[in-house]
Amino acid sequence: MQYADLVESYRRIDATASTDEKTAIVASVLEDATIDELEMLLPLFRGKVTPAYEQGDLGVSSTLTLEAICKATGVSEPEIETAWRETGDLGTAAAEAVENQAQQTLFATELTVESVFETLRDLLEYEGEGSQQRRIDAVAKLLSNADPEEARYVVRTVLGHLRIGIGEGTIRDAIARTELDGSDEATDAVEYAYQLTNDYPLVARTARETGVDDLRALEIDLFRPLQVMLADSAANVEDGIEAVATSDGSLLAEYKYDGVRIQLHKDGDEVRAFTRRLEEVTEQFPDVVENVRMHVAADSCVLEGEIVGYDPGTGDLTPFQELSTRIKRKHDIEAAAEETPVIVYLFDLLSIEGESLLERSLDERLARLDSVLDPEEWAIEPAQHVRFDPADPEPARKLYADALAAGHEGLMLKNLEVPYQPGRRVGYMLKIKPTMEPLDVVVTRGKYSEGRRKGKLGRLYLACRDPEADEFREVGRLATGYTDEQLAALTDALEPLITETDGRDVTVRPEVVLEVEYEEIQSSPTYDSGYALRFPRFVRRREDLSVADVDTLERVETLFEQQ
Ligand code: ATP
Repeated sequence: MQYADLVESYRRIDATASTDEKTAIVASVLEDATIDELEMLLPLFRGKVTPAYEQGDLGVSSTLTLEAICKATGVSEPEIETAWRETGDLGTAAAEAVENQAQQTLFATELTVESVFETLRDLLEYEGEGSQQRRIDAVAKLLSNADPEEARYVVRTVLGHLRIGIGEGTIRDAIARTELDGSDEATDAVEYAYQLTNDYPLVARTARETGVDDLRALEIDLFRPLQVMLADSAANVEDGIEAVATSDGSLLAEYKYDGVRIQLHKDGDEVRAFTRRLEEVTEQFPDVVENVRMHVAADSCVLEGEIVGYDPGTGDLTPFQELSTRIKRKHDIEAAAEETPVIVYLFDLLSIEGESLLERSLDERLARLDSVLDPEEWAIEPAQHVRFDPADPEPARKLYADALAAGHEGLMLKNLEVPYQPGRRVGYMLKIKPTMEPLDVVVTRGKYSEGRRKGKLGRLYLACRDPEADEFREVGRLATGYTDEQLAALTDALEPLITETDGRDVTVRPEVVLEVEYEEIQSSPTYDSGYALRFPRFVRRREDLSVADVDTLERVETLFEQQ
């Protein structure tokens, strides 16, 4: 397939605001594709060349891309930078550069979907000395064979953001429509299979070759993380019980730990760990790996839990922020494990000895977990919990008070009769915390401070996610709550993401996720979400969350209505 044909569909998707039309365009491309082409087209429609569970960083920053555009077109760097600043999009700047290039490449070869996909995938392999230059050369080669429109989308794919307003839901619906009959049942099956495998090509292939039943029968694969079940929130124990109970049966109340959620896959002696963003962190947590190896009596299994750090001197819990540095650590891992040792609190078992437990009740999953876990204090333990009768919530209230007194974050309430739902907030578990629910938002713009904080991005514009439009909507601006060190670290994280500068104002690629508190949510015409957070305060950076985890506009609306 010619890359130009895919680009034409990108262009048409971008030109319509209707989700239905976007889906129809994707579907028409998928319909004509061979199975091999699906392997490439599905990631490319998401602006990626890897499945969601693979680390897809191509290692090409906007600066390197800029160099590649220069090299391919002969247009000067300042000229491209001006176009970039004016349009806020390096892809558009690349299109203009190709349009205006002094010399047309002789004997240009037409780009195919395969040549673009393979070239970009190869970038993942480049390592060591000279790899930066090889990356620039590879991207430049693609661009020198590209027409302006192709150049626009090659650059956006390299940077990992296609900007055509296409969300996961569009891809799901297109697969359900072309590979199956497009019914609700088909759509649900595609969604379930995706949440289990995080692999749209696999889902599409299975749907095409065998149909809905086989999608439902897809199994958990060891060492390929699945999306985790998410929690709704409740204001207090009584509301929580009302929302989570579906019968008179017992409920589970459990400590809500303030750490990092972890999914652990074990196969014989090999244990690997993944975060809820599906990132592999096995190397960062050798102690956790060893504890699972030693204390879980199963040849193969998938476990879930929360990792909590503590100070070995005092036994005090470490703040989340300190623990998160262990996730980033690439060197001196053993030393980090000694400085901030961790306890794993296990709270679910998703498969064992090759048998998926996803369809089993939580009660049964916990019983099976109990039967294989040999707990050790300060190392690996089941999450602290009680089963209680919803008519008598006293044990849950007491556990909540105990959790807070012990320095934990709050309480989880869980329905014991229900299956596990990967990737969903289905009301099967609820979290209860004492303060007004903070929001996870992404930084879209910033402003450099003057005075003491000169040189730092002291004012940050925050946005929530509008999944329908695959866009971010601003909900306010943040200027307080951080220490000087935190502000310096945030500035360092944001500066490489700057796409546009106008005096002290900058626009950044939306990648840095922050947790913020606020006094209330107001309706406001100032921001394109229609809402404004009143007195937002920085709580912490959420490096464990990706932009896909940023709170949605719908959630902001719900919180607004609940006040
Ligand atoms: P929060 O910011 O409140 O932690 P979140 O956006 O990270 O929320 P949610 O799914 O909304 O994620 O809240 C549930 C999170 O609480 C889980 O992802 C997990 O990391 C953590 N957690 C702590 N203790 C438990 C527990 N016993 N059972 C399930 N999750 C727990």
